[in-house]
Amino acid sequence: SDPIHVVGGGLAGSEAAWQIAEAGLPVVLHEMRPLRGTEAHQTQDLAELVCSNSFRSDDAALNAVGLLHQEMRRLGSLIMRSGDANQVPAGGALAVDREGFSRAVTAALAAHPNVRIVREEIDGLPPESWDSVIVATGPLTAPGLAEGIRGLTGAESLAFFDAIAPIVHRDSIDMGKAWFQSRYDKAGPGGTGADYINCPLDREQYAAFIAALVEGEKTSFKEWEASTPYFDGCLPIEVMAERGPETLRHGPMKPFGLTNPHNPTVKAYAIVQLRQDNALGTLYNMVGFQTKLRHAEQVRIFRTIPGLENAEFARLGGLHRNTYLDSPRLLDATLRLKAAPRLRFAGQITGCEGYVESAAIGLMAGRFAAAERRGQSLAPLPATTALGALIGHITGGHVSAEDEGAPRSFQPMNVNFGLFPPLDRAPKALDGKRLRGPEKAQAKKRALTDRARASLSAWLGEEPAPLPAEAAE
Ligand code: FAD
Repeated sequence: SDPIHVVGGGLAGSEAAWQIAEAGLPVVLHEMRPLRGTEAHQTQDLAELVCSNSFRSDDAALNAVGLLHQEMRRLGSLIMRSGDANQVPAGGALAVDREGFSRAVTAALAAHPNVRIVREEIDGLPPESWDSVIVATGPLTAPGLAEGIRGLTGAESLAFFDAIAPIVHRDSIDMGKAWFQSRYDKAGPGGTGADYINCPLDREQYAAFIAALVEGEKTSFKEWEASTPYFDGCLPIEVMAERGPETLRHGPMKPFGLTNPHNPTVKAYAIVQLRQDNALGTLYNMVGFQTKLRHAEQVRIFRTIPGLENAEFARLGGLHRNTYLDSPRLLDATLRLKAAPRLRFAGQITGCEGYVESAAIGLMAGRFAAAERRGQSLAPLPATTALGALIGHITGGHVSAEDEGAPRSFQPMNVNFGLFPPLDRAPKALDGKRLRGPEKAQAKKRALTDRARASLSAWLGEEPAPLPAEAAE
């Protein structure tokens, strides 16, 4: 039969193509790199990680993204398989060697008999002759295609900033001042409890650092960019500093759960953490230090941090645009564009946020497309699963009838327990007593993830239902 076309070989497109191929159907993956680059990608590998090397928490019992990892593994995710095979130590998080990870994804797809990879830009809308297309071109979708989509939806695409964090050469960090330790000595998959490098600041150093950030020279704005809002999960540090002198101390620079072995009796006022960025352990990224400061300013200001006086930077922070659709209005429950159902969308362009979420939506888009090609319909994913909760956020599938038609502002979002339907009843302690505080919060998370696992098991056991005759056409 005709192949399904996937445009964009990023996190979402790679996973979508894999799912289609594994379903036994032919798929063509169109990726424009290396012929045309983006502001953030640096290689020609598929599924390149453009910034952090972390897939975030791997705790499937207490964390929504950890649960999403687990669900994706159960559905045969290529992104998770390649991530697991290329882990680097990172406390409770799943972090990966970025090169090893992307090479593994690229090699698996290149070797799959049902996959054809074509290096080309799809400039404008995909050809009419392609009857099933997944558009997974990400936050940095090339302008020709973005224009085509905008023309079709009639909707204003939104744009905002993402800023990327600097990466430092490990051997340029002064370990006479810095030290290895994970917060609260937490050891995650492959971790030792001493995975992060910590740089301490006292009160004066912190105050001077904040002042330098606020005064530091920023990259200039283009006019169309100046009015776009930041996404709160990825605020540049200088923007956080502008919000108040203590903001960073309560964010990425919080000093809790760490003891300086060089000076154990004095608590640091603030701490900069660096996380291993490659398998060799030669590169470390500055955690949460996304920035749009000018490169020379970054070097000057970051070298005032104790331990980083002689830091050599493998990459400096940067500033990038993001593009996403008003999906709850524009997409149907299987991620098809209502105005042109041959086009399905996946990844960050649908308004999810993050590597794992983008891949997760790619996974589902691939399965939806494969089922459709076979004339079957997939039973909708229960909203109680992480995958279902995320799809619900994007397609607006879980909006109550009362909200229907009400203007709803759609914001890109990481998966989180707030997207899950609430529990029927509050979890109780084993002795039947009411739980309180952190215990209650933990018990709630456990109950939500237990419920999710049971729902996914039930869903996986279901036979795909045939489409009603009129819908199948
Ligand atoms: P991408 O991975 O970007 O893949 C899209 C692919 O489509 C690219 O390979 C691109 O070359 C290709 N393409 C684009 N247009 C065309 C075309 N017309 N024809 C053919 N190919 C095309 N998430 C995190 O979890 N952690 C982070 O630290 C993080 N940092 C980010 C930093 C920046 C600067 C940006 C922009 C985003 C960041 N994100 C981060 C958000 C998001 O997780 C990533 O952007 C993620 O890669 C999105 O996956 P995707 O598959 O949707 O898009």
